[in-house]
Amino acid sequence: MVAMIPSKPFTCSRRGFLGGLACGLFAAKPGVAGPSTRPVDEPRFLTRGVVITADDLTWADWPRQAKAAGLNTIGLHAPVSARVLAQFIQSQAGQQFLDTCRQIGLAVEYELHAMSDLLPRRLFDTSPELFRMNDQGVRVREGNLCVHSEQALQVVAENAVDIAKTLRPTTGRYFYWGDDGLAWCRCPKCRGLSDTEQSLMVSNHLVAALRKVDPRARVAHLAYHNTLAPPRQVKPAEGVFLEYAPIHRRYDVPFERADDAQSRQEFEKLDANLEVFGREDARVLEYWLDVSLFSKWKKPAVKLPFNPEVLSADLDTYARRGIRHVTTFAVYIDAEYVAKYGAEPLRQYGEALNRTRG
Ligand SMILES: [Zn+2]
Repeated sequence: MVAMIPSKPFTCSRRGFLGGLACGLFAAKPGVAGPSTRPVDEPRFLTRGVVITADDLTWADWPRQAKAAGLNTIGLHAPVSARVLAQFIQSQAGQQFLDTCRQIGLAVEYELHAMSDLLPRRLFDTSPELFRMNDQGVRVREGNLCVHSEQALQVVAENAVDIAKTLRPTTGRYFYWGDDGLAWCRCPKCRGLSDTEQSLMVSNHLVAALRKVDPRARVAHLAYHNTLAPPRQVKPAEGVFLEYAPIHRRYDVPFERADDAQSRQEFEKLDANLEVFGREDARVLEYWLDVSLFSKWKKPAVKLPFNPEVLSADLDTYARRGIRHVTTFAVYIDAEYVAKYGAEPLRQYGEALNRTRG
């Protein structure tokens, strides 16, 4: 599900790959709509989730254990192909998974590195102009697309709507990410835009297309790796929300206190992105439970170096910024992993998310 760009160290890519503040200001005002009017004894985090792959469902108890831990959302991650995940969902095992989640009241979402599905690579043979240009000025089949190709955007939208017939989130939140860690277009029209801005242009386009079939659709903009820096020249459309995934941070010290350059860079980009995208819908996609990251995306899985103090401090950091939607990757926590190491960090994660109130 996750690999690396061969020429880079593993920290460069998840492949296979986004206080109290304004809300608090109005907390005491009666009649003000929005989260600030919620009772103070409810969990602060409205989305409390995990993101796993279909392979992790060898641990058949995943949905019930997630629910028992106090979580309310489970995301299925497609590291390479949304179409493959769609095949799983249509299988008996996939339908059973959905039935269980429906019965116990667990929301289901799909987090997809999807551009190679949305713009099928075979189209390169006849229409290379739909695809991205590399730094050498050559159109290439691999990775993302040319965002100034109207035809490419049209194909992408049609396929997103088609995939959504099968991978239909119960929350209205769609996650169609760029190809993991791969560059965007360097053609004369695109090269003045950052990878972030090109990625955001696609999200803006997708939300309009998806709302024609799902009026409540919202689309994530993934701030991660090469799209971590906030956009300057492109504004998020209505319905596009921030998903912030700090893959390059350290996990042995609280995020806010980490003093290494990579963690600092990731952390600074959080506030910069919140300034652009707003806080109310912002989502954190963390790695606290991501056995696959700590295993460097290769099995056998290592034991998760879970640190409840770091988790607790990080949740406080996010809560103070007004963030109310939190998930974490938990990939590689499957039947084999649970038999060997148990699932205590899942319980502690859920407990910590529910402990933060108001
Ligand atoms: Zn281009």
